[in-house]
Amino acid sequence: MNSNKSNKFTLISILLVIIAFILFLLSTFLDQYLFQYTMISKVITFTGLILLIISWAIYFMGLKQIKPQTTENVITVIACKNCDYREERPFMEGDYVFKEIGKCKKCSGTSYIYAIYLVPVKK
Ligand SMILES: [Zn+2]
Repeated sequence: MNSNKSNKFTLISILLVIIAFILFLLSTFLDQYLFQYTMISKVITFTGLILLIISWAIYFMGLKQIKPQTTENVITVIACKNCDYREERPFMEGDYVFKEIGKCKKCSGTSYIYAIYLVPVKK
C-alpha cells in the first residue's frame, strides 16, 4: 500500500518533468526559428520551470506522506497491575504510557499501557 502511494507521486512528478522538458525544447525551437515569438518562448520556459518546481514539491510531499505510516510498526505493551499478564498490539491513536485501558483478560484487574516502542521497518 505504501509503495503504491509513493509510486503514484513519483509517476506524477516524472510526468511533470517530461512536460517541462517538452516546454523547454519548444521554447528553444521558438528562439531559433521564430524570432518574433521570443516573448512566448520566455513564458514557456517560465512555465516549464514552475512545472519542475511543482514536480519536486509533489515528490517530497509523497515522501512525507509515507513517513507517518511507519506508526504501523509502533508497538504498545499492555500490562496488568495485579498479575504478570503482558500483551502487545499495534499502536493506536491516543495511546500513552500508564494509560488505563480496562480489565485484564487473565485476572480482571486493571490493565494499563506499560510501554510503547518502535520496531524497525522491514523491507
Ligand atoms: Zn491481571
